[in-house]
Order: sequence, then C-alpha cells, then structure tokens
Amino acid sequence: MTSQTTKNDATDLSDVAALLAAIEAPAGDGVEILDPATGELVGRAPQRGVADVDRAVATAREAQRAWAGTSHAERSEVLNRAAEAIEASAEALATLLSREQGKPLNGPNARFEVGACAAWLRANAAFELEPEVLVDDESGTAVLEYVPVGVVGAVGPWNWPMMISVWQIAPSLRMGNAVVLKPSEYTPLSVSALVAVMNQVLPEGLLQVLPGDGALGAALTAHDGVDKVMFTGSTATGKAIMRSAADSVKRLTLELGGNDAGIVLPDADPEAIAEDLFWGAFINTGQTCAAMKRLYVHESQYEQVCRALVAVAEKMPMGVGLEEQNVLGPLQNRAQYDIVADLVEKARSAGATILLGGDPVADRTGHFYPTTLVADIDNDNPLVAEEQFGPVLPIVKYTELDQAIAWANGLDVGLGSSVWGSDIDRAREVASRIEAGTTWINKHGAVDPRMPFGGIKESGQGLEFGVEGLKSVALPKVTSW
Ligand code: NDP
Repeated sequence: MTSQTTKNDATDLSDVAALLAAIEAPAGDGVEILDPATGELVGRAPQRGVADVDRAVATAREAQRAWAGTSHAERSEVLNRAAEAIEASAEALATLLSREQGKPLNGPNARFEVGACAAWLRANAAFELEPEVLVDDESGTAVLEYVPVGVVGAVGPWNWPMMISVWQIAPSLRMGNAVVLKPSEYTPLSVSALVAVMNQVLPEGLLQVLPGDGALGAALTAHDGVDKVMFTGSTATGKAIMRSAADSVKRLTLELGGNDAGIVLPDADPEAIAEDLFWGAFINTGQTCAAMKRLYVHESQYEQVCRALVAVAEKMPMGVGLEEQNVLGPLQNRAQYDIVADLVEKARSAGATILLGGDPVADRTGHFYPTTLVADIDNDNPLVAEEQFGPVLPIVKYTELDQAIAWANGLDVGLGSSVWGSDIDRAREVASRIEAGTTWINKHGAVDPRMPFGGIKESGQGLEFGVEGLKSVALPKVTSW
C-alpha cells in the first residue's frame, strides 16, 4: 500500500443508528428526509454549499496524487476490501436504503442493491487492462496505456442511489482517480452511508460525498478542478451538464433516461415469459432507467400475454419496504407519483383498457401507485411515448413486425430493449434492427458488470462497466519510440 493513511474508523457501522450517527447533520440542522412509504422521519441530511465544492475538489486532488502512483494490484486490493466493508454493513445499509428510497428489502430491491455494490467493486477489481502494443516492427514501437484522469465529479439519481454511485466510484478508483459525489437530494442518506462504510478502508480524501441540491450539482460539474463528470439522471440535466462542460472540455459519461421497448415475437410462449416480462418492467417498482417501459405484442398472442401478465402482477405484494413479504414499494417522491398518475389518466381518457390497477387509494399514506397494466393503447399515446418511470406498463398490439420495430426505434432515446421468442436466431436478427445500446433476448434490464452499458441517441454518451468502463475514466496515452 501507499504511505497514504486510511481513516481506520473504529466505529462499528453495522446498524442503522450507527450509520445515521456517522452521517447526519447536527440536531436542528440539515434537511429532513422522510420515508416515502410512511412519511416518517428517516434522518436529517447535511446540506453542502458551493464553497464546500472548492474544498472537496482540493482535498480530492491532493489524495489523488498519491493514489495515482499505486499499482493496479494495490488499487484492486483496496476495492476488494471496500466490498468486504459493505458486506459487513449490508443489512444496515439495506434497511436505510429501504426507508429512504422506499424499495422493499426483498425481491430485486434493497438487499439486492447492496449486494450489487459489492459485486461491482469486485468485478472492477478483477478486470485486466494491460498496455496495448500497437506497433512493434522495424519502424519502431508504440504502446497504448490508460492513465488516471484526475478528479471525477459524479452526480447520481434517487432510483438506485447506492448501486449507481458504485458504478461511478469503482472504475474511477480502480483507474487511479479521486471521486467527489453529489447524490440526489431525495436519497442523500443512502449514498452518505455507503461512502462512510467504504471510507473505513479507503485512503482519506479519495472518496467524498457532498449532499445538497441541484445548484450544488451544477457547481461540481462545472468546477475547473473536476476533470471528468459521470452523471446518471434525466436527459434535461444531462444536456445542461454537457453545455457547462464545454468551457473546460471536460470528459463526460452521461447515462440518461430511456423508454425501453420490448417486442414479443409470434413464436414466444406467453406463460413461460410472463414473469420475466413482469420483472423487466416492474423492477424497483418501474423506477429503473433500463426497465421495459412499452411492450409490443403480436396480435396472435396479445390476449394470452395480457392475461399472463395480469396473473403474475396480481401476485406481487406492494407495501412498506421493511415488511418482508413486499416486493414492490412506493414511488420515491410525489413529483414522480404525479408524472405516473397523469400519464395513466391520459391513457384512460384516450380510451385505453386498464387491465389492472390505475386506481390509487386517494388518502393512502405514502406515494403508492398500484401496479398497472394498460392494453388497447395507441403507440402515440403519451403513456407509450414518454418515460413513465413507475409501476405501469402499456401493452401495444402489432400486426407486422416491421411496424413494431419502427415503433421501437421511433423515439429519440435508445438505452435498453428486448426481444422475446423461442427461435434465438430469429430473435437476434430482430435485435440487430433495434436502435439501443443493449438488446436483451428473453430478459430485460439484466445489467452485468462485465458487459459495457450505455445509451445511444439522447439516452447518453460513453460506456460504463467492463474494461470499456475502465477506459472511460482514464486518458489514453500513446508512447512511441
Ligand atoms: P435530475 O436529472 O433532475 O436529477 C439527477 C441528479 O442531478 C440529482 O442528483 C440532481 O440533484 C442533479 N442535478 C439537478 N440539476 C443539476 C444541474 N443543473 N447540474 C448538475 N446536477 C444537477 O432527475 P430527477 O431526479 O429530477 O428525475 C427526473 C426524471 O429523470 C425522472 O422522471 C426520470 O424520468 C429520469 N430519471 C432517470 C434516471 C436514470 O437512471 N437514468 C434516474 C432518475 C431519474 P437534486 O436531486 O438535488 O436536484
């Protein structure tokens, strides 16, 4: 290891009270964070300001100098230790995440998310990135290497706050950079707790978190001392960041919204695919960038697919995240609830059939919107054309495959997509015609740390995960002699 000291924080961070004690604002200070399922107080998040950005970036720069001098093997060892630290606090982290974000402990939710944080750290520790010999002949030798960028400013969303932070942190640290994170103002406690846990083993100053509002995010992403911005969130904010990055030609990775299409081919088996279709759309109660947000089904099995989806959806309990039986939760915030409710009303008033849900309990505590399946809906209805980002799936009938593919490609976004059918060669052929960063076959949203992930069109720029993800938080450097 380096001469840099680690914090070696002796505090045991294995229960929620200890996590909150480590990260909360002093009594009477900070911003109240309320549980989206119950309205109860979860904790008080400190609010950092623009002056804190200057300090954090200067600290990061200092820490990064020594970190850049360590080897890949040394950095990988630290990432593996960070994964162990997360595992030691896993249940406390999952509980806090469930209370702040709303997602249940069980299902592909809070415990799954914390597990993914450790998995992504280990995967990033294991990737190999050797110098590439480009030329080695009588004319000379040339080698391509990847060197650290410097300070990474990372801004994240509220849907998968811990996991997406690790998507930004793990490759950045592995490649010799320091990271300053700005979490969503809806989920600052989860990200601060994750950072506190990781900082038990990381060199001091290398990973910092600044809870605060959008103005703080803007200050961080425009800061002269930030060399690279990693952002996950809305397309509108991504565009604003791109504009502000122009002045200093900052490197950017942007993971923005999507409106992923799924296409069910005539040879698919509706009963066999129904549960995977359901989770492809409803993972994290639909609040997932690469979730299926519109489903195109051939007329020959339209009725069967609708029936099978309703049967699966009816069995999935929605409720307070800490109650172990639940696998679906509330929307994280009222603004998102309003977007979802408004889009369903637009579908209803256009004459679409609400197969399930669509009828929220008006005075229920918490931002619960029921699991909703909508059929007999036109492709240009706003519920299909706009990203609903909630527990709602519109199911559109098609007759000709070319029409379904044109609909799938008809929007200005292209993050994920999926094709469902029994003949894999046929499904691959269809997949090759879909405009998206990833097309899954007979599954949807199955991100994997080994597979580069990113959007095309207005869904973003740059790649995360895999060796490509490491390269994107580094600078290519050619040496030729
Ligand atoms: P935003 O893009 O507004 O927020 C994402 C992050 O960016 C937050 O941390 C936010 O801070 C920060 N931010 C806001 N303004 C700026 C700025 N000018 N410069 C830098 N950072 C900034 O998304 P929302 O949370 O408002 O969600 C809106 C929509 O985005 C959703 O309806 C959904 O469609 C989509 N979305 C997509 C996600 C994805 O995974 N791709 C994730 C979440 C949302 P703060 O929270 O303090 O405002």
